Amino acid sequence: MGGRYKTWIIFLLACSAAGCATIYNPATERKELIWISTQQEIALGQDMDAQIRKKMEMLRDPRMEARLAGIGARIAKVSDRQEVSYTFRIVKDNAYNAFAIPGGFLYVNSGLMDAADDDELAGVLGHEIGHVAARHSIKKLQAALGYQLLLGLAMGLSGQQTMGKALDIVFEVSSLGYSREDEYLADKLAVRYSSRAGFNPYGMVAFFMKLKDEAKRRGPDFHVEFFSSHPETDKRIQRVKDEISRLNTR
Ligand code: ZN
Repeated sequence: MGGRYKTWIIFLLACSAAGCATIYNPATERKELIWISTQQEIALGQDMDAQIRKKMEMLRDPRMEARLAGIGARIAKVSDRQEVSYTFRIVKDNAYNAFAIPGGFLYVNSGLMDAADDDELAGVLGHEIGHVAARHSIKKLQAALGYQLLLGLAMGLSGQQTMGKALDIVFEVSSLGYSREDEYLADKLAVRYSSRAGFNPYGMVAFFMKLKDEAKRRGPDFHVEFFSSHPETDKRIQRVKDEISRLNTR
């Protein structure tokens, strides 16, 4: 990890010396300063994926994997981010959860796959690919690295310790808790991508209803990437419906 950390410091310094170029991100419809390259992001994703596969049990079922990969490929093909290749894995767990990490690695729980029909699964994958396309966790990591770098320098921490803290933040962000705005945007992209790929975008609404039922069953401690108390699910459902009607009048 030390080597990669050094590369990033060099990037940071090069960036501040030369003035980093901003790129237009079609997912967020904004110009953004991205100094972690796609290549670096993929390398980071591969490290994280290896750790996740050590910690969580993956389900190997050819029929379920084919269904997930098939729907995933259709969504990925129409997404705003084509330069990463997406990898889809099934986590053996019955909670209705899914999450994405940097570099295009996506994880869907077996319980969610069993509960969701194809349109609903397309909505879920559109939401997660939306986070990747918008580079939500990478932007958080950039901010954390910048901050940790300064803090690390001030406290005399080693590169490895500093990097470790920054990575913890990415893990946290990927498994639970993006900002409210990030969630709304990922929902909007889910509607956009799933309808572009020929799925019914109402699948997202139907899935939210199933999530609400599951949350009721599991009680107040229920917390997955998809179902956070902020923003509230009812508000998200309303926004998704608004987005679908905009789609239809276009
Ligand atoms: Zn999300």
